[in-house]
Amino acid sequence: MNHFELKNGVMHAEDVPLPQIAQEVGTPVYVYSMATLVRHARVFRDALSGLDKPHIAFAVKSNPNLAVLKVLQREGYGADVVSGGELVRALAADMAPADIVFSGVGKTHAELVQGLEQDIGQFNLESEEEGYELSAIAARLGKTARCALRVNPDVDARTHDKISTGKAENKFGVPIDRAGEIYAALAAMPGLDMRGVAVHIGSQLSSLEPLETAFEKLGRLIADLRGQGLKVTHADLGGGLGVPYKAGETFPSPAEYGAMVARVTKGWDVALSFEPGRVIAGNAGILLTRVIRVKRSSNASPFIIVDAAMNDLARPAMYGAWHDIDAVEPTGGRTTAHIVGPICETGDTFAMNREIDTLEAGDLAVFRTAGAYGATMASSYNSRGFVPEVLVDGARYAVVADRLPAADIMAAERVPDWL
Ligand SMILES: *Cc1c(COP(=O)(O)O)cnc(C)c1O
Repeated sequence: MNHFELKNGVMHAEDVPLPQIAQEVGTPVYVYSMATLVRHARVFRDALSGLDKPHIAFAVKSNPNLAVLKVLQREGYGADVVSGGELVRALAADMAPADIVFSGVGKTHAELVQGLEQDIGQFNLESEEEGYELSAIAARLGKTARCALRVNPDVDARTHDKISTGKAENKFGVPIDRAGEIYAALAAMPGLDMRGVAVHIGSQLSSLEPLETAFEKLGRLIADLRGQGLKVTHADLGGGLGVPYKAGETFPSPAEYGAMVARVTKGWDVALSFEPGRVIAGNAGILLTRVIRVKRSSNASPFIIVDAAMNDLARPAMYGAWHDIDAVEPTGGRTTAHIVGPICETGDTFAMNREIDTLEAGDLAVFRTAGAYGATMASSYNSRGFVPEVLVDGARYAVVADRLPAADIMAAERVPDWL
């Protein structure tokens, strides 16, 4: 459910007509609906209401915009960060350090120091080596790092290969069959408070089954660790719940997910935490674009060339991902076309032979479900500027990220005086 709907034949974001945003901010532009974000945050939290005080940390990498983080902070969410940059953002959005979890397979020395100095809630350690490094830093700084060990449960999440993280060959976590030994070794190190385990098997999961399998393995690990006399008070179940990208697709609901979690974790006697990203932000955003021109050079489908490109929305080029494309002012006509951006790469293709609303030069269209892994993956490839972002709340909106013009990006470059 989202708030991008036709009203009197014109697509609105909540109560703001999209042509107004296109006129005033220009295109391409990401538009987020605050009501949708808030709704998703509450639905997810309500789905976990059967658990004892679950901790929810929004996966900042899915949408790190400060205003989006602020909306979620006001909803009581913490943050799951995967870099020092994301940590700075979470703090800037007034998230309490205690509500911040630091994940990521390659935290640098500087990032470990930064996390300790900020007294964040938890480090999710992704290797034994990282644990030893963090221990040394914590001991030197006279701090204690609260830690969970991320395990790789060797479960096939049955999602796109590039966003699968829980198979043995993926770089994430420690092999679950070595977790007991590694956990014990790290629990004996100074400066570390080994308090739990973590798992995250991938993103855009369309079935609860792989999650359930992974959680069951984690439950057995917790029992084993306790059997070894080790303390386990926390378990982080990660994110990964998928969202429909095509109208009519159905996905497991947060409520079904919450019921499964309650069933599988019954008796674990730990504080549970969660790291949802896409399921909160995905359907809360669209990418608004304008058709530059329609190229009809053969009898095959025409190319509808839009002013958004793979640098603005990378998912189709990167993962072959589908985004529904709809006209902002549909006439009722339908056509079959290729939808492409202006970038000089064949990969800059959003859809081939797609049946969509009729679109002509100058018309506005939206890519739906672009609120997660959208603007955050933008680049300036082809010397295109960075795409701006807008947040809508009822009948008002604000530009929450300025368009960064190509000239400003060039201004950071230098020609050395020996050239
Ligand atoms: C990316 C990621 C998430 C969020 O995944 P979603 O599929 O967006 O819910 C959560 N935890 C970790 C460790 C991640 O890397």
